[in-house]
Amino acid sequence: MLSDAYGRTVTNIRISLTHACNLNCIYCHAEGEQHPEDELPAGQIAEILRVARDFGFRSVKFTGGEPLMRDDLEEIVASVPEGMEASLTTNGTLLAGRARALKEAGLGRVNISLDTLDPERYARIAGRPLLGDALAGIEAALDAGLVPVKLNMVVLSGINDDEIETFIDFVRDRHDLVLQLIELMDFRDCPHHADVKGIEDRIAAIADRVETRRMHHRKKYHVRGAEVEVVRPLHNTEFCAYCNRLRLTSDGWLKPCLLRTDNHVDIRGLHGAALEEAFREAVRRREPYFA
Ligand code: SAM
Repeated sequence: MLSDAYGRTVTNIRISLTHACNLNCIYCHAEGEQHPEDELPAGQIAEILRVARDFGFRSVKFTGGEPLMRDDLEEIVASVPEGMEASLTTNGTLLAGRARALKEAGLGRVNISLDTLDPERYARIAGRPLLGDALAGIEAALDAGLVPVKLNMVVLSGINDDEIETFIDFVRDRHDLVLQLIELMDFRDCPHHADVKGIEDRIAAIADRVETRRMHHRKKYHVRGAEVEVVRPLHNTEFCAYCNRLRLTSDGWLKPCLLRTDNHVDIRGLHGAALEEAFREAVRRREPYFA
């Protein structure tokens, strides 16, 4: 196991597979990637995953860009070593034809970004009118058993913050659907930051039951038959105190913190003992951003 100087054991790796995306969301932080170079080939990702598993990592989340832009995503998922759970964060618009193959390759579940159920708003937020494709992706994920499907909704003041009740209704009494409300991190001067803490307080007040997850100590609220999680990374010392995640950029840098770009560890072309040492170094560089 790898633990940092703050006693946080790292058990999860979030791997960006590509910087390419078929959408152009107005707020996208692109996982903190700035000017990525070449994508890592599937074989090198497989080796990185084996090292992570040997260090006791229990799960991997694939992200992007849009991970379904990679034709070899099924091959990458199939290379996840036994003992590690694999999940995917996707906009869902390219998922319908591949959900079953991804399930067969070993994918456990998916997060699907869905900020609105209104077609015009979707086009405004995502830059392309693909709400129908995203909904088809959700259906395909449910049919393939990639559950629970978590719907990632970035709350945008003045754009979709009036849809939270609609989303709660959408996932109500569906144990295969979870709503995840995400606080906007403002990397692109997007002027739509919403008070997600206030929204969380209101949800907490009407929740029948609350659970606390290991990942970032996130709360899961059971509200009138709906499951709702809230992700609040900003100025949230709990988020950092319970962070168990290392990130990998699409061009091969280990990233100790989502919010920093000055402490990455280059693992391009590294193998064996050198790759293991790079993992140790990235964990040594972890420190809570909000302490
Ligand atoms: N394309 C994939 C998708 O849509 O899920 C994966 C990459 S996307 C960067 C991963 C998640 O980050 C999505 O749920 C997206 O909504 C969220 N996200 C992107 N930019 C964000 C920001 N500035 N603040 C908060 N969440 C953001």
